[in-house]
Amino acid sequence: MSKHDSKNDKEILLDVRHLKKYYPITGGIFGRTVGHVKAVDDISFTIRRGETFGLVGESGSGKSTTGKTILRLTPKTEGEIIYKGVDLDSLSKQELREYRPSMQFIFQNPYHSLNPRQRIGDAIGEALLDHGMATPAEIREKVLEVLSLCGLSSYHYDRFPHEFSGGQRQRIGIARAIILNPDFVIADEPVSALDVSIQAQIINLLSDLQEERGLTYLFISHDLSVVEHVSDRIGVMYLGSLVEMATRDELFAQPLHPYTKALLSAVPIPDPTLKRERIVLTGDIPSPADPPTGCKFHTRCPYVTPHCRMEVPAYRDVGGGHYVACHII
Ligand code: SF4
Repeated sequence: MSKHDSKNDKEILLDVRHLKKYYPITGGIFGRTVGHVKAVDDISFTIRRGETFGLVGESGSGKSTTGKTILRLTPKTEGEIIYKGVDLDSLSKQELREYRPSMQFIFQNPYHSLNPRQRIGDAIGEALLDHGMATPAEIREKVLEVLSLCGLSSYHYDRFPHEFSGGQRQRIGIARAIILNPDFVIADEPVSALDVSIQAQIINLLSDLQEERGLTYLFISHDLSVVEHVSDRIGVMYLGSLVEMATRDELFAQPLHPYTKALLSAVPIPDPTLKRERIVLTGDIPSPADPPTGCKFHTRCPYVTPHCRMEVPAYRDVGGGHYVACHII
């Protein structure tokens, strides 16, 4: 999405180190912890200022949990989240509150987070009041400004959530995120619930806002063709782990991990003279409460060897920041 040329020279805005998010499984009459759902299981990546990092994987791969954990919407189990060079764990509640406006979240369906009886202008402006970033007298003007930026009209200010289409509601979700003038936005499946024609409009809006405001995005989606459009770099998640990470161009030109190859084989190519061989994965994604031993992908991998069932493959840089976790690469 970003058209910045020298992204590699830009400062690292977000540095996620060995992030884990485990949910306890309780059982028995005493409700003791009998296991864990390893939703996010030791992942590391960085995002530079002005960059869009796409996180892709099937439902249940842990990508949404990763986003929520980074924004502390849910507490992490282990690992570090370094934002603008500061370990967020080292901050007091008050200091963390000061960082909040800088890190925002766009949900798949913003309707769920809107009060049906609250006018849209008030819903967009209330965060400004909460953070003391505007006086009541200034709010209307600021809200009208972001409504216009997000392709909505001034008369929408006094309308209620049910009066908007799906695409307009996502514009409202984006307006609520950007009114606090953030540096970093996590967009979690922001176009998955929309018609294809509307998807393009919302992606263009996010792209324009990035250019205008120098935003940095973590863009989460199950749809690799959407992620291809928007991302500078892409991380592929499977069962709580990153299995491959590379620049968008490298990943599409030379995917290495069998899971990435399978995902890519389902992405249509615009040129009808070219064809990709379709790789159909058998079986469902296993439960993160009971992941397979060794390589977590071994139960579905067409290239599985006995070694894969025994040993976890190292996640390593195979050159130029292209990371992969597979024994046969
Ligand atoms: Fe497949 Fe083995 Fe590579 Fe895992 S380590 S992706 S099972 S070849």
